Amino acid sequence: MPTKNKILVTGGAGFIGSHLVDRFIEKGSKVTVYDNLSSGKIEFIKNHLENPNFTLIEGDLLDQEAIEEACKDTDFVCHVAANPDVRLGASDTRVHLDQNILATYNLLEAMRKNNIKEIAFTSTSTVYGEANIMPTPEDYGPLIPISLYGASKLACEALITSYSHTFDMQAWIFRFANIVGPRSTHGITVDFIRKLQKNPNLLEILGDGKQEKSYLHVSECVGAILFLIENSKEKVNIFNIGSEDTISATEIGKTVMEEMGLSSVEFIYTGGSRGWKGDVPRMRLGIEKMKSLGWKPVYTSERSVRETARALLGRD
Ligand code: NAD
Repeated sequence: MPTKNKILVTGGAGFIGSHLVDRFIEKGSKVTVYDNLSSGKIEFIKNHLENPNFTLIEGDLLDQEAIEEACKDTDFVCHVAANPDVRLGASDTRVHLDQNILATYNLLEAMRKNNIKEIAFTSTSTVYGEANIMPTPEDYGPLIPISLYGASKLACEALITSYSHTFDMQAWIFRFANIVGPRSTHGITVDFIRKLQKNPNLLEILGDGKQEKSYLHVSECVGAILFLIENSKEKVNIFNIGSEDTISATEIGKTVMEEMGLSSVEFIYTGGSRGWKGDVPRMRLGIEKMKSLGWKPVYTSERSVRETARALLGRD
């Protein structure tokens, strides 16, 4: 990315953000991480703390002045910070409005005031809601999210596209499948490992275990992001990023069990077709658009989950 020398990564101390930071630093960019460390961890970026090309600003996107200051001397923004907990919206209706929508608005204002013209945004498959076309392509519609998280991410997308058109910015919007890998701090693989570490004889699976979703390893996700930023030039570039297949919740349970060396675990199901209110039971994204530009994933969903379990168990 020759023109993108000074990159601000919001949420750069988090799971996906820290992997992105690793890649940007590897490519020789100057990187500033802006993170309030709510779920991000210093440990994930500790290798860069002494690097002159790296700066950490501990700040909150809800602090308008601080983000405006942090954006000075930046030519590309990767907006990764968010509250990514889909389940939370059912018990706290405010969190995604603040942490996702208002945070994105503050960032866009900071960009506008600092004359920064390029933004990449980490969106999600949940903007599609319960799509009736599978794999779901980027031009699927109408978009009817069923979680407050999905709604907030769709609102962020709308803010970003409208700022792009109103203030001559360029945007890359990436709608992710489930992203897994080392440093994951949430999600089904992490949950199953925690539960089995507590009780290796029993695994509670939310829903009926038949939920079928696509999982992509974070190394592939980050590879796709960098490739697509370099190789797409529209004013607004929207891409699904996912794998080419799916894996069920029960199969994930079996994979985690195998990686933990457990041979007899009783699976119990909480019942119903979805894990929680707002859960989309079937998700597979169409990735023809990114494939047509020349990037495709190598790992299956099963392999991504297996590698993640190994990494989280310290066996990679
Ligand atoms: P994460 O929780 O590890 O990362 C989020 C980061 O943002 C954390 O470092 C956190 O401290 C920071 N942050 C949160 N609120 C902030 C605020 N107000 N100000 C400054 N920093 C703040 O989550 P992740 O899984 O790495 O997700 C990264 C992005 O990818 C999110 O935007 C999420 O919605 C999106 N996404 C993730 C997945 C997935 O499967 N992990 C799937 C789809 C989309």
